[in-house]
Amino acid sequence: MNLKEKELKVQKIKNGTVIDHIAAGYALSVLRILGITGKEGITVSVVMNVPSKKLGKKDIVKVEGRELKKDEVNKIALVAPKATINIIRNYKIIRKDRIRLPNEIEGIISCINPKCITKGEREPIKPKFTVISDKPIRLRCKYCGTILEIDDIEKQL
Ligand SMILES: [Zn+2]
Repeated sequence: MNLKEKELKVQKIKNGTVIDHIAAGYALSVLRILGITGKEGITVSVVMNVPSKKLGKKDIVKVEGRELKKDEVNKIALVAPKATINIIRNYKIIRKDRIRLPNEIEGIISCINPKCITKGEREPIKPKFTVISDKPIRLRCKYCGTILEIDDIEKQL
């Protein structure tokens, strides 16, 4: 196999999803969010730290035979807010969606302050956060003001 064929083998998938423009270093977080361990038997390609005009460096994840669910996309937005999701059918991109990080995050993750009102055992309140930065992502709890950094967020996904 020459180099060109090898490249093709890595790049082309027949049906599935290509998640592009993941911030460098977060491909594995994306795999974790998707619940991919490598034991599923599906073809998954991970490319890390490739040069990108938009991001300097980026990661790419390609998953054969799977299209992402909305809640998976919402979680990916938290670790890869600039990502694009390409749905591939029969080797063609049939849909390209840019991930959009909302201004507010509700219910996906919990506040890290143990005294936060959202943690109440009797009447827990659905956690809500304001997105105060997306590069890297930082969230502020709407109830207690605690700031969550990317590490705090990633751990919960
Ligand atoms: Zn809180």
